[in-house]
This record gives sequence, structure tokens and C-alpha cells, in this order.
Amino acid sequence: MGFVSVLSFAHQLLSQRVHFGDKAIDATLGNGNDVLLLAKLTGNRGRVYGFDIQQQALDQSWMRLRNEIPDASSFVQLHLCTHASMEAVIPAADQGTIAAVAFNLGYLPGAEQDTITQEASTISALEASLRMLRKGGITTIVLYTGHKGGFEEAQAVESWAMQLSAADYQVLRYQFANRAKHAPYLLAVEKR
Ligand code: SAM
Repeated sequence: MGFVSVLSFAHQLLSQRVHFGDKAIDATLGNGNDVLLLAKLTGNRGRVYGFDIQQQALDQSWMRLRNEIPDASSFVQLHLCTHASMEAVIPAADQGTIAAVAFNLGYLPGAEQDTITQEASTISALEASLRMLRKGGITTIVLYTGHKGGFEEAQAVESWAMQLSAADYQVLRYQFANRAKHAPYLLAVEKR
């Protein structure tokens, strides 16, 4: 049967942690695959916040959402701003109650590759994501190293993840060990 892909494994983890009525965040909307999954998991009793710095990503995400979830706009909020600002955007009452935050780093597939996630804002947003999580909540991070700056960003994310206190967080890596050097891989952080 084979092991599932990195993206499928990330979706498995999200599906285990996010339940009907929960709150979740997609930190990098892109083409809307992750936000669609999160919205299906929380349902209209929950809430989903999404972030991207490109209008194209918001448009694509709304199209995906509306096609499959007619009342998506009643419980999904998409913000055209950096994920590093999530704490300024998400209401205080929801902070610390989030079941999962999904990051899928790099560039928007199908768009120019000059708009990519950047080390400094990614780390700042990852820090914010951990403050957002409830106990037992997870942050998933899909990392790509093949594009310009991707390797350096992945190294920074790894260093950040490795210094997290084991008493407070579990950190998991899911990676194919015998694939091409630049194959994507996953880090997942659980707040204990
Ligand atoms: N999760 C997406 C999906 O399901 O299709 C794929 C995400 S794509 C690999 C990365 C996205 O991150 C791009 O759309 C890019 O515009 C966005 N991005 C780059 N820097 C960002 C930032 N500082 N804050 C939020 N999004 C950012």
C-alpha cells in the first residue's frame, strides 16, 4: 500500500485533532486545499481563520470553499495579511482555544515564485501559532527546500522546533529518507 504522502499525512493529523465545532487556522492559504479540509472538519458550528499575502490565494480559496460548502462565509474568515499578524486579527476570546494551525510553506503553485514565505515572518507566525493552540492542539508545517531560500527557511524552522521544551511540546518529523534531496517533509508540534 505504501506510506501516505507528506501532504496526506498532514491532513491525517489535522483530521485527528480538529472536530465539529472546533476552531482552526490555515496560515498559508495558497490554492485552498488545507482551508477546505479545516472548514469541513470544524463545520459551521466552528470557526476557521485563513491568511495569505496574495489576493489570488484568497480568491482561489473562496472559490474552493463556496463550491463545496455553500455557507462557508458564515464561519470562515480569510485575511489578506501576513500570518505573523494572526494575534492582531484573531479575537482574544479565540486565542488559546485553537485545535490546529496548518502551515504549508514556500510559494503559491501556479503563480510567480517570487512571493514566498520568509524565515523571519514564518518563525514569528510559528511562535504565535503555539500561543493560539489549546492543550492537545497541533501546528503542522510542510517544508520545501527546492526553491530559492527554501533550504535556509527549513533550517530556521528546524532549529526553532528543536529548541522547544519537551515538557511543553512534542515535535514529530515525517519524511521519506530515500527520496530526492528536495522532497517536501513535515514537522508537527503538539502542545502538551
Ligand atoms: N496551503 C496551501 C494549499 O492548500 O494550497 C498551499 C500554500 S502555498 C505552498 C504557500 C502560500 O504562502 C502562498 O500562497 C503564499 O502567498 C503564502 N505566503 C507567503 N508568505 C506569507 C505570509 N507572510 N503570510 C501568509 N501567507 C504567506
